[in-house]
Amino acid sequence: MLTLHGIIELRDYVKHWRITGQRIAFVPTMGNLHAGHLHLVERAHEFAERVAVSIFVNPLQFGPNEDFKNYPRTLEADKIQLAAAGVDLLFAPSLDEMYACDWEKITRVEVPGLASILDGKFRPGHFAGMATIVVKLFNMVQPDVALFGEKDYQQLVVIRRLVADLCIPVKIVGVPTVRGADGLAMSSRNQYLTASERELAPLLFRTLGKLVQALNDGRRDFQRLESEAVRKLSAVGMRPDYVAIRAAGTLATPDEVTGNFVVLAAAWLGKTRLIDNIEVHTTVASEHVGT
Ligand code: AMP
Repeated sequence: MLTLHGIIELRDYVKHWRITGQRIAFVPTMGNLHAGHLHLVERAHEFAERVAVSIFVNPLQFGPNEDFKNYPRTLEADKIQLAAAGVDLLFAPSLDEMYACDWEKITRVEVPGLASILDGKFRPGHFAGMATIVVKLFNMVQPDVALFGEKDYQQLVVIRRLVADLCIPVKIVGVPTVRGADGLAMSSRNQYLTASERELAPLLFRTLGKLVQALNDGRRDFQRLESEAVRKLSAVGMRPDYVAIRAAGTLATPDEVTGNFVVLAAAWLGKTRLIDNIEVHTTVASEHVGT
């Protein structure tokens, strides 16, 4: 596996692949890799002859009180895992390489509406920062396919929208969330959890699972279901930012004819912010509206 740190070298290298007719699948990450990231890499091989991964902790998508400085950076260990997973190219640029000018003043990609609901409401500027770096990386790597985890469901919806709106010629593939045996979604931030918090953390997934069951049972009293879930999480000491039932794919507020849902939640556990979601494709008619 080749590791490159410069944009010019990266462009040269991918140009060689392009002119020899090789397709490129791309997996952007912030590093500190775990089984979730490696599953994206594994899937990437299905779509192209060449697989490129980026590792860049992007300051633009962190709020002023968030964990940019402390975010775990483990480049050497990540390289070993990526080489073992058959990755052809790792792009690991420095902050200066990615943001030659002052990154706080850079042109940004805004995705109105979608970027200000749910996580966007609690993390102002996060999605514009993420969208901007993803577009920059797409312009550098010029992949045919890019893979993103469904764990960051809203991120995936935002990326699909910006790719469509800006006519970026890349196929976006969503990959199901990789979880621990107890259901907790794998995340680089899980290592911030203390031992007792780690034990409690799977409750987020279990609570979403109960919402899935309620929707499958035909319940459509969305607000009540959301408040019950918030109460349940708060009762064990989590501090939920939101629990939301939305239409799958669009994140629109559902109504009684919606059949495909996604249930999403973000909750603080100590100093760690956990997010998770589950898609639900119901077949039951909404007989119990208002129950
Ligand atoms: P990150 O390094 O957290 O920016 O994540 C890089 C990519 O890995 C994103 O597309 C994430 O959605 C994806 N990802 C993170 N955790 C998981 C997981 N547990 N399962 C599947 N994909 C994941």
